[in-house]
Amino acid sequence: MKRVYSILALAFATLLLTGCPHINPDPIDPDVPDIPDESWRNQASKTKLSGITYQLNVYSFADSDGDGWGDIRGITQHLDYLDSIGATALWLSPIHEAMSYHGYNVNDYYSVSSKLGTEADLKDLISKAKAKNIDIYLDFVLNHSGKDNDWFKLALADPSSKYHDYYVFPNTTGDYITGGMGGWCSASSGSLGYKGLLHFKLDTSNPSQPKLTITQATGSAQSGNTDTSVKWFIYENNAIRMYKTGNNTYEITLAIDNEWGVLVKDDATEWGNHKWGASTNDKLVEFGKPKTLVKGDSASDLIFGGSSSQYYASFDASMPDLYYGPYAKASESETFKDLAAAADKWIDMGVAGLRLDAVIWIYQNNTAANVSFLKQWYDRCNSTWKAKGGKGDFYMVGEAWCDNAEKMAPYYEGLPSNFNFYYWYTLKDRIGKGKGDDFAQTVIYFQDQFRKYRTDFIDAIKLTNHDEDRAANDLGRDVAKEKLAAAVLLTSPGKPYIYQGEELGYWGNKGKGDEYVRAPIKWTRDGSVPSAALNGKVDNAMLTADISVEAQEKNDASVLRVYRNFAKARNAWKALAQGQIEAVSSPNSAVAVWKMSYEGQTVLVVHNFGTGGPVLPLTNYKTDKLIVSNGTVTVSNGAVAMGAYSSAVFLQ
Ligand code: MG
Repeated sequence: MKRVYSILALAFATLLLTGCPHINPDPIDPDVPDIPDESWRNQASKTKLSGITYQLNVYSFADSDGDGWGDIRGITQHLDYLDSIGATALWLSPIHEAMSYHGYNVNDYYSVSSKLGTEADLKDLISKAKAKNIDIYLDFVLNHSGKDNDWFKLALADPSSKYHDYYVFPNTTGDYITGGMGGWCSASSGSLGYKGLLHFKLDTSNPSQPKLTITQATGSAQSGNTDTSVKWFIYENNAIRMYKTGNNTYEITLAIDNEWGVLVKDDATEWGNHKWGASTNDKLVEFGKPKTLVKGDSASDLIFGGSSSQYYASFDASMPDLYYGPYAKASESETFKDLAAAADKWIDMGVAGLRLDAVIWIYQNNTAANVSFLKQWYDRCNSTWKAKGGKGDFYMVGEAWCDNAEKMAPYYEGLPSNFNFYYWYTLKDRIGKGKGDDFAQTVIYFQDQFRKYRTDFIDAIKLTNHDEDRAANDLGRDVAKEKLAAAVLLTSPGKPYIYQGEELGYWGNKGKGDEYVRAPIKWTRDGSVPSAALNGKVDNAMLTADISVEAQEKNDASVLRVYRNFAKARNAWKALAQGQIEAVSSPNSAVAVWKMSYEGQTVLVVHNFGTGGPVLPLTNYKTDKLIVSNGTVTVSNGAVAMGAYSSAVFLQ
């Protein structure tokens, strides 16, 4: 099939002058070898390992009833679209009754939010998706519930009720470790740890065990002491120097307004050994009663007042942390049993997987505790799955968002699959630098880390998600780079996730609000978008007619076409989906090359991360059978010329 040659391709043709160059901008061309049937794609046990998952925000994906909220029926109505980009599973944002539009502060884990639909709608979606070999995964929030959850209301109303043990209160004992990003909140005021005037008196007679006495005060607040010879500070939102009022006493009266309590410091800016606070499990300060302070990294915030209605929240006051007791026996806690019963309900209905939110905070970034908990949770859900006759093992993927892959890897002892945030960090870095030659080795390095903890790990690779700036922003809104990123994702080993809107080239950043990275799908050139949940925080300059699905489906040069073509190839060629990766020494620093092999089938994957047009002497490989490509790829006598940001996959 002849096509219009790009200027770049003509340059290559002129350069090469050897034989007739084969230009193939259309990836699934009649003149490439036979495309196998999609039998691989229809094997649920295989697609669970390496099939494409589409992540969607139910509230902004598609609206079936015209109320401006996306809903479950809207998803069902667009299954053909999801099928067309090769989805073998859908990860739905939380569907339960919740306090916020995004659903991550759940009020009832057994319910379907009335804004999103009904249980009947969910059953219908599961059934119709299954007919297309698409699984449904639910987002399950185990770290915290919503503050309006009946469990939490009952916990507050009656400290002797079993629900009191579902949450973390100052008198909670066990493996709960405060710290990390969390803080204490007051149930009475709704969001503040304390608001009002407090007097602080510090006694340093015993310099290694100073005592702090806090009393409620009247009158007016003092400003900080400017006498720099005084080395003692109260830290609320910043360090405030105290006044010396005796040989070993320092005092100050301050207007306090915060969620997290206070610390004492002996340096205005340094932390570490300059921090003084409460010892773990003894954080409450009773007004008027001296509190002995401990020093260093283990010193925790001092909590005011002795109220029994303060609770711990890792994220914000609307999300009280759930508590499962000592981690080794988490599955015996009533909290675990209640959540598991809710999960059972959805698994029994046909849900084939769960995505677990914020798993590193369940036991406050204590990896061993979290992993132990997750293993118990997974085993419980998997046994439910098997009891109902589910094929293979249940799928579960964790959001173990750690600093690096090495720190995340141990989570594979708890879960079969985890999101690989580091894949995208690497990919955007290398595309930015125009350097592809070490990409395959980096992917293999990640795999080696994960394999230490689980041999059958399922590497959940992705570009960005609902909590990150859009991939397009990271790539400088360069459409050629966005297409390259899509092609790399869909030719990599692992289980790729495509986030709602990524396939359309959406951009957006979190600076003005998370809503801007959760934009609704623009289905038609002229139609409205399901944006009611986003409270006006929608970039209408982005949601033009041309970015719509309708427009991109008709446009050969669209981002959507690249996603569809590469997804189709991945789902048709088992080596591309399921293959073992092997790095190939790259003849050019800008170019990533690797092989993927599975059950006797091998493909060669080539991506140009740069703007140059290198000609690659891939003479040791077959280049006559192009499975899929993007950008300008020219083959002549075994040499492959790769245009800027182009991609090609050759059958071996
Ligand atoms: Mg609706």
